[in-house]
Amino acid sequence: MASTLTVLEQNILRAKGMTEPQVKALIEAGVTARADFRTVKDAGTLCALVEGLSAEVAKAVMDWAMDEATPAAGGGGVVVDSADVVYCVHCQAKQPKDYKSGDLCGSCGKQAEPILTCFWCAASGPGRFCRACGAQFISTAELELGVLLKREGLAKDDIPARLEAMSAADKEVLWGRVRKSRR
Ligand SMILES: [Zn+2]
Ligand SMILES: [Zn+2]
Repeated sequence: MASTLTVLEQNILRAKGMTEPQVKALIEAGVTARADFRTVKDAGTLCALVEGLSAEVAKAVMDWAMDEATPAAGGGGVVVDSADVVYCVHCQAKQPKDYKSGDLCGSCGKQAEPILTCFWCAASGPGRFCRACGAQFISTAELELGVLLKREGLAKDDIPARLEAMSAADKEVLWGRVRKSRR
């Protein structure tokens, strides 16, 4: 088996906007087959692996890499990570393989995913990423933590990962700062 991305795959990455050093950095980071993008899982992680990669390019690359089984969404819509199984938040029905963000549940007819508010630009929508600014959504319960980190100058793409990596105790400290900032 080839231990690197094929020439075609590398060309596609360049077509998506990655520079030559960024493609090299990606391969050096261990992404040597298209399947490895499943392990990378999202644009935020991809940005963390490749220095200087913009969120837009990372998203385009992940959309391509994750879109093996499903036909491209019309109009560049957000494609759900096909490795994730989506369950309806209303009736818990498992959604079909070709489910896309914003689809209605085949079982109960309601929108299967919650509508989340973006911590970065306050737009709201379904799916894992904000359609307005490309930020990865964080859970509604932690929205204010995201807003606080934004105010403190963290980069848009760093905030979801930072929150994910935090322990409950770290978050408690952060909540303390949120409460303080309200006064
Ligand atoms: Zn349902
Ligand atoms: Zn946004």
